[in-house]
Amino acid sequence: MRKIAIINQKGGVGKTTTAVNLAAGLAQSGKRVCVLDLDPQAHASLHLGVTLHDGQPSVYDLLCGDASIADVRQNISSNLSVIPTNLDLAAAELELAGEVGREVILRDRIEQDDDDSDFLIIDCPPSLGVLTLNALTAVDEVFLPLQPHFLALHGLSKLLRTIEIVSKRLNPKLRLEGIVLCMYESSTRLAAEVSRDVEEFLQASASQSPVWASAKFFQTKIRRNIRLAEAPSFGQSIFDYAPNSHGSEDYLNLAKEVLATGSSNTKICPGIATASPSVVFSSPTI
Ligand code: ADP
Ligand code: MG
Repeated sequence: MRKIAIINQKGGVGKTTTAVNLAAGLAQSGKRVCVLDLDPQAHASLHLGVTLHDGQPSVYDLLCGDASIADVRQNISSNLSVIPTNLDLAAAELELAGEVGREVILRDRIEQDDDDSDFLIIDCPPSLGVLTLNALTAVDEVFLPLQPHFLALHGLSKLLRTIEIVSKRLNPKLRLEGIVLCMYESSTRLAAEVSRDVEEFLQASASQSPVWASAKFFQTKIRRNIRLAEAPSFGQSIFDYAPNSHGSEDYLNLAKEVLATGSSNTKICPGIATASPSVVFSSPTI
């Protein structure tokens, strides 16, 4: 099973939209996919049409109680399932504060589960707290959605450092696999310039780290598309809500790229340096 965390500590960059629609795109391509909603805002659960009622087990019970993944998982379609959450999860950060081994709870739960999905995709909250650390400890791959505006790279260095620390201390298999440009507006010069800057920054970062060595810049850019913004309120993925939209086309292409990982579809960045995140702040155009 490929385990992927969709991470960016900024809100509103396209994490949930990417987690849900990439998962649905992979499912559409015949893969068995499970989405784990690790954000107490529960947007991924709602996007997939799941609202938990009082007493129904959630990710909170997985992390702070005795529930197993099988207790919480719900099927959405034949190929797609979700491990849903609700606002209860907001308490986990505090409740787990004094707990020994709090960063490895999710990994242990996943290891105990005998699900035979091809992909587990974790939608992370907009923070680098204990929930995100649980995700980073449990997965092998990080996908980073970026919105190409002039502050796109702000905070990236902290995220990179966090990923590197987790890889050193808790999860040696962890790597930054790919960067996805979301809400891309091809008609604006700023979007084109910023995305070129991001790409150049990634390529120019000289020093290598095993954590970044395999990083790819996905060639599929997710265009801004109103259908993608509308779909969550109908509790449907873009493929059910608007199968002929640009959003559907882009996420299906992204799914194909993810499936073809390692092929020439994706550009290998020469290295995203942990030692040079200051470049992020000194770049004149960012
Ligand atoms: P995050 O999970 O990082 O906070 P979301 O995926 O929830 O970000 O996206 C933030 C908002 O932008 C949501 O209202 C979402 O529907 C909308 N959105 C995301 N991607 C697109 C897109 N490509 N085009 C238009 N709206 C989008
Ligand atoms: Mg979100």
